Amino acid sequence: MEVKTSLLDNMIGVGDMVLLEPLSEDSFLENLKNRFDHNEIYTYIGSVVISMNPYRSLPIYTPDKVEEYRNRNFYELSPHIYALADEAYRSLRDQDKDQCILITGESGAGKTEASKLVMSYVAAVCGKGQEVNKVKEQLLQSNPVLEAFGNAKTVRNDNSSRFGKYMDIEFDFKGDPLGGVISNYLLEKSRVVKQPRGERNFHIFYQLLSGASDDTLKKLKLHRDFSKYNYLSLDSAVVNGLDDAANFRTVRNAMQIVGFMEDEVQSVLELVAAVLKLGNIEFKPESRCNGTDESRIKDKNGGLMDEKQETKSLFLMKSVLERAFSYRTVEAKMEKVSTTLNVAQAYYARDALAKNLYSRLFSWLVTRINESIKVTKTRHKVMGVLDIYGFEIFEDNSFEQFIINYCNEKLQQIFIELTLREEQEEYVREVCLWFYISVFNMLYNQNGILAMLDEECLRPGTVTDETFLDKLNTVCAEHQHFESRLSKNSKFLTDHSLPHSCFRIQHYAGKVLYRVEGFVDKNNDLLYRDLSQAMYKANHSLIKQLFPEGNPAKVNLKRPPTAGFQFRASVGTLMRNLQTKNPNYIRCIKPNDKKASHIFTESLVRHQVRYLGLMENVRVRRAGYAFRQAYEPCLERYKMLCKRTWPHWRGPAREGVEVLMADLQVPAEEFSYGRSKIFIRNPRTLFFLEERRRQ
Ligand code: ATP
Ligand code: MG
Repeated sequence: MEVKTSLLDNMIGVGDMVLLEPLSEDSFLENLKNRFDHNEIYTYIGSVVISMNPYRSLPIYTPDKVEEYRNRNFYELSPHIYALADEAYRSLRDQDKDQCILITGESGAGKTEASKLVMSYVAAVCGKGQEVNKVKEQLLQSNPVLEAFGNAKTVRNDNSSRFGKYMDIEFDFKGDPLGGVISNYLLEKSRVVKQPRGERNFHIFYQLLSGASDDTLKKLKLHRDFSKYNYLSLDSAVVNGLDDAANFRTVRNAMQIVGFMEDEVQSVLELVAAVLKLGNIEFKPESRCNGTDESRIKDKNGGLMDEKQETKSLFLMKSVLERAFSYRTVEAKMEKVSTTLNVAQAYYARDALAKNLYSRLFSWLVTRINESIKVTKTRHKVMGVLDIYGFEIFEDNSFEQFIINYCNEKLQQIFIELTLREEQEEYVREVCLWFYISVFNMLYNQNGILAMLDEECLRPGTVTDETFLDKLNTVCAEHQHFESRLSKNSKFLTDHSLPHSCFRIQHYAGKVLYRVEGFVDKNNDLLYRDLSQAMYKANHSLIKQLFPEGNPAKVNLKRPPTAGFQFRASVGTLMRNLQTKNPNYIRCIKPNDKKASHIFTESLVRHQVRYLGLMENVRVRRAGYAFRQAYEPCLERYKMLCKRTWPHWRGPAREGVEVLMADLQVPAEEFSYGRSKIFIRNPRTLFFLEERRRQ
């Protein structure tokens, strides 16, 4: 007979927090620490996987491990992300249920790594035909491409995702992948022109300069030296353990596998180069006869290159670019009014263009990848994998953090909703039990602030960050007055000690102070029409394609939707999409903020355990029936305890389990028979059964 390692045999600490006795926050943390210290980075709360970032590579992702977890029941082996991936995949393949894998946790907690582990596990266990292998490779290789362009070194994580990503992997009826669709959420494009201290720009810039051949760099008219470029921060340009040159080769290779043509790769690199060069354009004032200053492009651009080359590598005539940086044309009711830009405004326009160019390139990449991995046959089932930027609290938090945290807030909300729903449904389906746990009644809608920002941005008249803040304060004060009669638990915190131009929000993961500066501008996200029109004139088909609104034949006076509006809409769509699928949760935890292995900083972990609501999660699981198991595996596991079921039970599994429980004289109130599962109320019963097995 095959020897199986059980969840409870040879276990370090307790593998499933549901079975932890006694249960308290301290014992929860102690269990996590104990397991972490013994390289057990995964722990369950029922079917939820807690994943601790080990910050070093562990030998637990080998092909042997894949084989070990393949086709095994979730609780059969020690906790592993592969067990979750296997369960989700089999449920999709055998029970026709769409799945989603929801991965949450703060920046650096290991979400992106977890998403890749799930994808590679599924790739390893599904079909192996030539066609299928090609699809798998393309799906997997989309990761390095998107990471190169969308990830960056931050103080929290050397490979921090600066965009949100949701990927649907689509399968046929056999469970073989056919392809997929990637959705991306708001890239943090401000990073293109400026990076906080100790952080870098997106990886691709450094990869290109370090890894491209001399010949390629010559063609792109780039220098290898990072210090030549204004947009590249220098204090942290080289990151320990990050080989930009090798990664560049990986990315090029990945682009090829995904299906990019050589000329497309070339175009993409030309755009990356164009962004770097834009950053080096400098301006000087030129006095006009009416006493005002107008900006002019400095001729030599710091002596970097001669004028002809510089503009040529931006694929634009210098005169066109210069005009775009000197004037701003406002069109209203068929009337055009041009105003001149001073030097500061010209720099602003330059940066706006660089940010736009880069973020449009990023979206184009996603679209292009989607074209390659698009499913043409009939798809049968879908597995969605969500990996978004983690919750962030910096010293200085701006619009970007607000958006990132908003998204995390929504996800937390959905976790709560779905966990609750899942609980309800399972009970309703299985034993017609329904109960409500008030701990989860903490849903609230935080849409308000983004909506208010939109209202403000679209209002006629002078709109500034300050007017937005005033509005926020007024509305929230009224709201709070109203709310305070209902509850003391308002999420918008008014506090007279707040620094100037700031507001504070009580997020589920902590209080965050936001600086309002730039909110209106970043939300408006408007690119002067002069700039898009100039870009449309570029002698470069990809650039042209990225600025369709610059086409003079298609002048559209309607303003594009704001960044906040688009984000809200796409997060809304995502949430609705997730709700149609069976959720699988991975809750990532960061053990320390030194990016170091072997260090477990208790206070830091405690904080995450609290805001992720993990204790509540355990309590909900325990409050009803702590343990649930389908009849077959239950019988398989315990049939040795009863003469009538050992070694073979010939009837239906449920009856076998009934015989077993009767024989063992487990009190009737300790368990309940569901349609397909047995529900055990108290971990004690489970311990009793496990003890008996061991005797
Ligand atoms: P962000 O929100 O900033 O994108 P994240 O949660 O996606 O953060 P990751 O990029 O997945 O974090 O992880 C950060 C780093 O931690 C990885 O680059 C890797 O070095 C390490 N790491 C994470 N998970 C694992 C793991 N399972 N095994 C080994 N190292 C890991
Ligand atoms: Mg990430």
